[in-house]
Amino acid sequence: MNNIMAQHLKVAVIGAGVAGLVTAHELQREGHQVAIYEKSDQIGGVWVYNPHVEDDPLGIDPKRKIIHSSLYSLLRTNLPGDFMGFSDYPFTMRDKNVVTTLYQDWLKFQVVVVIGAGPSSQDISTETSKVAKEVYLSSRSPEIQPEKLEAYDNVWQHAKTEYCYENGEIAFKDGALVAADVIIHCTGY
Ligand SMILES: Cc1cc2nc3c(=O)[nH]c(=O)nc-3n(C[C@H](O)[C@H](O)[C@H](O)COP(=O)(O)OP(=O)(O)OC[C@H]3O[C@@H](n4cnc5c(N)ncnc54)[C@H](O)[C@@H]3O)c2cc1C
Repeated sequence: MNNIMAQHLKVAVIGAGVAGLVTAHELQREGHQVAIYEKSDQIGGVWVYNPHVEDDPLGIDPKRKIIHSSLYSLLRTNLPGDFMGFSDYPFTMRDKNVVTTLYQDWLKFQVVVVIGAGPSSQDISTETSKVAKEVYLSSRSPEIQPEKLEAYDNVWQHAKTEYCYENGEIAFKDGALVAADVIIHCTGY
């Protein structure tokens, strides 16, 4: 391995996401001649926000148009910023999180159920609460007590969802029933 690294090689890196870009940068610093091949028209991989969603949300149709990123527009990082920097390019939170015009129009005056209790659900419920009528957070943690969250005027937390009726009503395991206009899954990927 040391012998290989000592030679100056021509290296092809496939993919210009974070991994490809860092790898190419480090290889170049070692003196190798690097070419990056990227199939899309932008670098950044999953960190390039794409407003489109796949037309087959369950991902069953193999011919569906694949959307590489599942990023939401206001996500800057869902790990502590310190972990996200590179040694020669520290991470700074330059952007303030704001609800996009798209969200504002779509969620205005709606009753929104946000499923999940991770960082994305916290981001999205906070932003959504600024425009929605009511926001209901659903967590599968057994310790969750149904209650209104003190920090907000219009956010309640509930247990795991039990059932979603065709008319949009959501039954939570704690017995509550909410007539949801919008359900947002923040359940990972
Ligand atoms: C919503 C979300 C939030 C995340 N949050 C964090 C976070 O806060 N912190 C963190 O560290 N990680 C996070 N991650 C994990 C994320 O996967 C990594 O941060 C990182 O972006 C992965 O980089 P990558 O280069 O391996 O892959 P990708 O970013 O997926 O890049 C792969 C690239 O390869 C290209 N490609 C694929 N196939 C080919 C081909 N055959 N030819 C040419 N090009 C090709 C793709 O177009 C793409 O540009 C998150 C991921 C998601 C989806």
